[in-house]
Amino acid sequence: MKTAEIIAIGSELLGPSRVDTNSLWLTEKLSDIGVEVQLKTIVGDDGARLEEAIADALKRADIVITTGGLGPTEDDITRGCTAKALGRELVYHDDIETILRERFRAWGREMPEINKRQAFVIEGADILENPRGSAVGMLTAVGKKRVINLPGPPRENQPMFTDLVLARLKELVGEVFIERRLMKIVGMGESAVDEMAAPIYTSFEGVQTSILFNKTEVELQIAVRRDSQAEAETTADELTARLADAFGIAMFTTTGETMEAVVGRLLSERSETVAFAESCTGGLVSRRITEVPGSSAYFLEGLVAYSYPAKVRMLGVRQETLDEFGAVSAECAREMAEGALKVSGATHAVSVTGIAGPDGGTDDKPVGTVFFAYAGPSGTRSIKLLLPGDRYLIRWRSSQAALDLLRRSLLRQ
Ligand code: AMP
Ligand code: MG
Repeated sequence: MKTAEIIAIGSELLGPSRVDTNSLWLTEKLSDIGVEVQLKTIVGDDGARLEEAIADALKRADIVITTGGLGPTEDDITRGCTAKALGRELVYHDDIETILRERFRAWGREMPEINKRQAFVIEGADILENPRGSAVGMLTAVGKKRVINLPGPPRENQPMFTDLVLARLKELVGEVFIERRLMKIVGMGESAVDEMAAPIYTSFEGVQTSILFNKTEVELQIAVRRDSQAEAETTADELTARLADAFGIAMFTTTGETMEAVVGRLLSERSETVAFAESCTGGLVSRRITEVPGSSAYFLEGLVAYSYPAKVRMLGVRQETLDEFGAVSAECAREMAEGALKVSGATHAVSVTGIAGPDGGTDDKPVGTVFFAYAGPSGTRSIKLLLPGDRYLIRWRSSQAALDLLRRSLLRQ
């Protein structure tokens, strides 16, 4: 597999004011043709650092791409530094100067003399024309390796890469077919997921796996590299099926769907409806389910019953239940879910009540104690979780657990 490094050039990219988005875009495009970006660097407008960065990158990678620093001003040093790193001269091209002069004239201006700098090109480099700006790009073959200098502005470098570079890199790399899958697992930590998944994915050749923890779920991504599209797809299907089998109900999607989309799909398939009764999530569960287009087909209502009186009035929770067990209790959660089921007329109802903190925790019920209940055709059941994190995370994780309780109830009924 060919490897690449990307060097983003410009002092403005080191601070918070401008973000290097070029390398993100390029990494994705390279990945699509089977080139793995292994390192990216941001270098300020410093000649020595840049020259060193380019020379070092070329020792390690097959393809080195720089973006930025091709302008006409003193701080645009990419041309000279790349030439030095490669041990080559800069060669003046009068045809580039002619084109530049004509372009300035078309804008009704004379070309400033400093733009002449942009007519210098690395010895032996292929010129990448830039109809959208004044800086041409360069593609230089260094043995079997390639060094590519692209201009900084995305509206210039993206078309240049797509139109003039991509086909040539494909030729260099040879045709590679990549099939990606994104699976998501709930209720397990990153290391537990890897422990279960590793024996499976390591038994496949040419598969790259990454496992990422994402707030409330673990993402398991696979990229299968094969010589044909059909082979890549078959292998990805097989690997996905084996992983899905191993994780069972904990894997909620093999196609990258969100939890709310999965729950929505399950309800749609059954032509059933849901209502939520929320306390500590303050409507987050309802917000998430309504983020899915078409949710009006299955989501009837979300009741945010924060105070005791609201729980009594809106959901019919009994005052005695609140007095005896408190609002953060299995008993209250069950009555909330049953109340939501009754007032909404939905097929299913799920409730959440807990302590999101930072205050309000007790020895008995520390911050993060959250009760959930499901009520529906199969009856009522409640669960208690002790969720880690700050207020934001506890609320977010509670919303995930509520949706997951509904998902599991739908799959089990
Ligand atoms: P330069 O070619 O260095 O003169 O950069 C020109 C402009 O391109 C900058 O002011 C930025 O707006 C944009 N730019 C440069 N490098 C990047 C980058 N890595 N990611 C996104 N935009 C960039
Ligand atoms: Mg710059």
